[in-house]
Amino acid sequence: MKIRDTRAVLTSFDHKRGPFGLERCLPEEPGKVHAISRSALRFASTDAVFASKDINFDDVPVGAFCGRTAWVILPREFDNSDPDACADCGRMAKLYVDDYSKWFAEYERRRSRNLY
Ligand SMILES: [Zn+2]
Repeated sequence: MKIRDTRAVLTSFDHKRGPFGLERCLPEEPGKVHAISRSALRFASTDAVFASKDINFDDVPVGAFCGRTAWVILPREFDNSDPDACADCGRMAKLYVDDYSKWFAEYERRRSRNLY
């Protein structure tokens, strides 16, 4: 199920040589796909990032539902039925839909344990 008001994110990126030097790009092995919510970003650019049709390589890490640090925001919603979806983010996504205040308390608990 696609989770409304979220974005699929990745925890790593690669570099490739572009016309202006090294550019960020998707890694060859993207690994698990994690979830962020709009409220996790809290930046002035959040609406632009959510509206963007491009991949965003963020300079500021964002905290995924599971507590991992994400750097790459994909232009699509997190889908917990995606075979590459992080299982922990999938569980948190269900909570996000079913009981936002419980989700928020759990998300804040994870945030306080981590660096984001
Ligand atoms: Zn995750």
